[in-house]
Amino acid sequence: MSVGKKIPRVDLPKGLRRDTLAVREGLPPSAWGENSEALFLTSSFVQPDAATAAARFANEEEAFIYSRFSNPTVTMFERRLAALEGTEGCIGTSSGMSAILLLGMGLLKAGDHVLCSQSVFGSTIMLFGREFGKFGVETTFVSQTDVEAWRRAIKPNTKLLFAESPTNPLTEVCDIRALSLVAKEASALLAVDNCFCSPALQRPVEFGADLVVHSGTKYLDGQGRVIAGALCGPEQLINEKFVPVMRSAGMSLSPFNAWVVLKGLETLDIRMRAQSERALQLATWLEQQPQIERVFYPGLRSHPQHELAMAQQSDLGAAVVSFIVKGERLGAFHVIDSTQVCSITANLGDTKTTITHPASTSHGRLTEAQRQAAGIAQGMIRVAVGLDDVEDLKADLLRGLATL
Ligand SMILES: *Cc1c(COP(=O)(O)O)cnc(C)c1O
Repeated sequence: MSVGKKIPRVDLPKGLRRDTLAVREGLPPSAWGENSEALFLTSSFVQPDAATAAARFANEEEAFIYSRFSNPTVTMFERRLAALEGTEGCIGTSSGMSAILLLGMGLLKAGDHVLCSQSVFGSTIMLFGREFGKFGVETTFVSQTDVEAWRRAIKPNTKLLFAESPTNPLTEVCDIRALSLVAKEASALLAVDNCFCSPALQRPVEFGADLVVHSGTKYLDGQGRVIAGALCGPEQLINEKFVPVMRSAGMSLSPFNAWVVLKGLETLDIRMRAQSERALQLATWLEQQPQIERVFYPGLRSHPQHELAMAQQSDLGAAVVSFIVKGERLGAFHVIDSTQVCSITANLGDTKTTITHPASTSHGRLTEAQRQAAGIAQGMIRVAVGLDDVEDLKADLLRGLATL
C-alpha cells in the first residue's frame, strides 16, 4: 500500500535525522508494546463488518486487507526505506528484478520507448531488451557516462530513462543530475537503481531522479539472507501507477523477508561505511600488484569518474571492487579457485566477502557482443567486500595471484 497516509505513524518528533529514522521509522507498536518491530505473518486481515470491508476494498478507507498488497511489516519496511531515500513513498517487492518489472508495468505501454544504460545489471538488460520487447516496448541501450549520447537517443515516445550507479561490475558512475535534466527536457521520468550505494551513501532524488529502484537482497539486508526489492518515489505516482499493478500482478514482498530487511536497515549506515573503507584498502593494494592489469573502484583516483562519484556518494566508493587479471579467463578462474576465505558466489552486499567471474555468471546470458559493449572482460573478477579483515582478504587473493 506504499506508505499508507491514514495508517497511524510512529510517535516521533519532526526533523529527525537519517540514523534515527533508520532504527525508528515504521508503525506504532501493537497493543503489546513490543520494542522490536513485529512480524505479521498473516495472509489476510479480519474486517469489523461487511460494510467496512466494502469501503476498504473500494479504497474509500485505508486499512490492511490482504498481504498481496498490504501488510504492516511490509509497510514498516516501506516507510523506513522511503525515509532513508528521502522519497514520499515506497512499495516493497519480492525481488530487485520485480521492482524493475513493476516500474515497467506501471509506466509503460506498447509503443513506448525506454533509454537504458548499456552497463546495468545483466538481468535488467534482459528484462528491458527481451521481456518488455515482447509487449511492444522498445529499449535503446546507451553509454553509462556519455550524457550527450542519452540526449541524442531521446525519441518523441521516450517515457523512461533507467540508470544504475555505480554499475555492476565495472563501477561506472553516471551523472544523475545531468541525466535528470535530459529526462525533464523529454518529459520522461528518470529511475535509478541505487543498489550499489544504498541510501546510506547516495540518495538519487537529491540529484533529480524521480524514482529509485532497490534490490533489498543486497546491502539493505546486508547479510545475504533473503530476496527482496523496492521502488521508491512520489506518493501520487506510487498510488496511481504502481499500487494497482501490485494488486493485480502480485510481485509482493513477503512479510518475513520485509522484516529481515527492515532490521537490516538499522545497521545499513555503519556497514556501508565499514565495507567501503575495507574496499578502498583492498583496491589500493590491488592496484600495486603486478599480475593485475586494471582495477575498477570509484574510490581510487585512477577511476575515470572519481570526482563525480565522491560528490554523489558521500565521499565513499562503496564496497564492490573489480579488477582484470593477466591470463584472461583461465587466470581469473585460477585466482577465484585459489581463495579459501572469499565465498565463490554471484551475490553481493553480504558481510561475507564474495568473489565472482562476471563474464560467466551475472553477465553469462549476454551475447559476446553485448558483453563487450558492457565492457566485461574474460579476465575480470568482482569482489564484493564484506566485513572480513582486509589483511585476510589480501592474503586470500595473493594465493592465486602469486602463482599466475
Ligand atoms: C542484484 C541486483 C538486482 C536484482 O535484484 P534481485 O533482488 O536479485 O532480483 C538489480 N540491480 C542490481 C544492481 C543488482 O545488483
